[in-house]
Parts: sequence; structure tokens; C-alpha cells
Amino acid sequence: MSEPLVVIGNGMAAARFADELSTRALGRYAVAVVGAEPRLAYNRVLLSSVLAGEVASSDIELKPPHWWSDRGITMRYGCRASAIDTQAHSVTLADGMTLPFSKLVFATGSQPIRPPIPGMALPGVITFRDINDIWTIWHRAGAGDRVVVIGGGLLGLEAAYGVAKSGARVTLLHLMDRLMERQLDAQAAHMLQRAVEAMGIEVVLNADTAQIGGNVRVESVTLKDGRTVEADAVVVAIGIRPSADLARDAGVVVTRGIVVDDALETNIAGIHAIGECAEHRGICYGLVEPAHEQARVLADRLAGRDAKYTGSVLATNLKVSGVNVFSAGNFLGGEGTEEIILSDPGFGIYKKLVIAGGTVTGAVLFGDIAGGLWYLDLIRSGANIDAIREDLAFGRALADRTPAPTQLAA
Ligand SMILES: Cc1cc2nc3c(=O)[nH]c(=O)nc-3n(C[C@H](O)[C@H](O)[C@H](O)COP(=O)(O)OP(=O)(O)OC[C@H]3O[C@@H](n4cnc5c(N)ncnc54)[C@H](O)[C@@H]3O)c2cc1C
Repeated sequence: MSEPLVVIGNGMAAARFADELSTRALGRYAVAVVGAEPRLAYNRVLLSSVLAGEVASSDIELKPPHWWSDRGITMRYGCRASAIDTQAHSVTLADGMTLPFSKLVFATGSQPIRPPIPGMALPGVITFRDINDIWTIWHRAGAGDRVVVIGGGLLGLEAAYGVAKSGARVTLLHLMDRLMERQLDAQAAHMLQRAVEAMGIEVVLNADTAQIGGNVRVESVTLKDGRTVEADAVVVAIGIRPSADLARDAGVVVTRGIVVDDALETNIAGIHAIGECAEHRGICYGLVEPAHEQARVLADRLAGRDAKYTGSVLATNLKVSGVNVFSAGNFLGGEGTEEIILSDPGFGIYKKLVIAGGTVTGAVLFGDIAGGLWYLDLIRSGANIDAIREDLAFGRALADRTPAPTQLAA
């Protein structure tokens, strides 16, 4: 008889896990997926492109309905899991139904952070996480409206771009002294700012929001230094917090996220976590690739194979048309590292490669990001680049004329 396996969350990690498991152990588990959003899993990464009008919201579903039923997966979407009894091995849903499990996988993702500042609950203050948020943004922030986006990280920039494309007048407020400081060094961030401003988006750095003003709906944003920006809508994109309350309430160890070991198992045997809700070796990842890697490793393990998750090297691409940005690994460098920099500000091109111990450990590319995946491969593999170092900054085609590092090592 199949073992009951319940996945809580119907997002990108859950969909990839279901896919990976069904290719390895179809029939071994009776899988049920519980999702709070009232729809099948979709590609959340593409929400930025949906907001910008570049992809239709109907085109982002990850798997068609028959894909799930063909694999015998029971879908319970539009229904939140509300409690877990780890003794009785059951999950209770918001509609009162209970599901038994022998294995449980948390794939509950994250929630957007709403800072505790006055005015946050006013109508017209919107987050940027799911498809409902997109519809709310479209409803509130149309052509000619004044829209303030709080947060100059990846999501804030993509929100600002999407809203500006619809004809709104956008001001982007960022707390730090440069945009995307977690992915870009000062030079690349400066070039990014110029490119964003050229799209008509006003960028305000060192902008610490004190309050959002308005009577029945949002009207303005006031900064701690006293400046005020008028606003018909405010999009808040300052970060995410793992959705881990359900796990914590069930007695699962949670620090920032749901703590898992290299087997992606929590402190309770048979209970696992993957994706943005999981915390592995002290890290909660906020990108999709680690979620996919974790889904693959967990599927391997639950199919009886020996597999370990040891962490991911992060890489980021900004999805703003005409602005090409790539960042991976330790892009800031530091003691014991060297930097190769190729910069042509007039042409809008900047490349920085961080080298340590004969390997590439980080990369920032602006303008020309064609070599990004190659640099990412070099970072992940830790391949020795001494033999190709001279041509490294000019991309793979030039570097490939010299013997590859693996050939040299052989
Ligand atoms: C606009 C946007 C753009 C992005 N762009 C990129 C990008 O370019 N590159 C990149 O790598 N990443 C990007 N990301 C991040 C990426 O989407 C996430 O890393 C990825 O979706 C994480 O997958 P997940 O399954 O862990 O979480 P999610 O996809 O968020 O899925 C979690 C699901 O669990 C559900 N859930 C939560 N609690 C419960 C409960 N109690 N019961 C039932 N269901 C529950 C949630 O409703 C949600 O549907 C972007 C995210 C956004 C919002």
C-alpha cells in the first residue's frame, strides 16, 4: 500500500518536488498537495513579467490540471493547512478536513515583510508576492497615478519597472546608499541607477520611511528626514520572511526558517522542509534555484537513494527589459581575493570577477551578461582558472582557445 505523503504549500518548490518524486517513486507514496492560493502552482518568478505586461497571467501555470491527476496526486488548493498533530500524524485544513501522513513536507514559501510603520494598513498599500497582488497593483496604479515603491532590491526594481511601464509616475525609495546592495558593488549599482532613471523612475537613496499618510486611502509617504512624496499607491518590496508559524506551532524547530539538516529533515523524523520556508546551515534562500535543488535531493532521499543537500551558490538576474544585470557568488571580494575589472561606463558595460586561490568565487556583470552562466559554472565547480585567466574577462569563446582547466588537471 502507498504511504501517505502530504506537501503543505503549492508553489514552485512543491511543484518541482512532485515532479522529481513522480519520476523516481511513482506509486510508492499517495501524495496530497495542500495549497492556500486558490489555483494550481504557477511560476512566481514570472510575476514581474506579468506586471510589466510581457507575459499573460494565464501563461504561467507550471503544470496543467491533468498532469497532477495523471500522477495520482490529490490537490487541495484554495485551502490552508491550519494545524499539524505530529503524534497522530495528521494535518488539519482550514475547512476542518484532516489528512493522515507518514511523511510531511513543508513547502510554504515566504511572506512579504510589512514594516511596522504608521499607515501600512491603508488601502492602496500593496505587497508584491502573488497573483492577487498583481491584480491589486493594476487596479490601484494605472497611467498617470503617482506610485511609490519602497525597496530598491530585485523585487522593488522589477515592481517599479512594471508599474512605470503602465504609465504611472514612479518614485523608488531605498534605505541603503545603492540599489541592489546585496547583489551589486557600488559601480554596477550606480550604472543600474542611471539606467533606471533613464526610464523615468525617480530613485531616492538613503530613504528611511517614517510613515504612510492618508485618510481613507494612501496619499503620501514621509521619510525620516522630513521629505514627503505624494502617492496614489505604495508598493512595499523590502524583503520576505519564511512562512514557518505552522511548523513552529507543531513543535518543529524554527529559528528564522524551518531548520533542516543535509537530508532536508527537521528535528522530527519524517517531517521535511524545502524552498523559501527552509533554513539550511543558517541560510534561508530567497531564490528559486535552491528550492529546485532541495526538491531534487528530497525526492532522491524519499525514493530511497542516498543524496545530500550541502547548500547553493546564488545567482541573480534582474528582469527589467533593456537593463542586463547578473550577480553570483562572493561578488564583493575581500581579504585573500583579487579582482579582474573591465569597465566601459560610456558603453554601459561593467564586469567584475572575484578570484581566490586560482578559482572564480564571484561575478558582477552589467550591460553584457552573456558570460553569466559560464562564470556561474566556474564558481560552482571551483575549476582552476590559472590557464585561462588572461582571457577570462572576455568570455568563454576567447578563454576556450586555451586548454580547459579540467584538461590541464587531468
Ligand atoms: C515578483 C517575484 C519575482 C521573483 N523573481 C525571481 C527571480 O528572478 N529569480 C529567482 O530565483 N527567484 C525569484 N523570485 C523568488 C521565487 O519566486 C521563490 O524563490 C520561489 O517561488 C520559492 O518557492 P517556494 O515553493 O519555496 O515558495 P512559493 O512559491 O511562495 O510557494 C509557497 C506556497 O505555499 C502556500 N502556503 C503557505 N502557507 C500555507 C499553508 N499553511 N497551507 C497551505 N499553503 C500554504 C503559499 O500560499 C504559496 O502558494 C521572485 C519572487 C517574486 C514574488
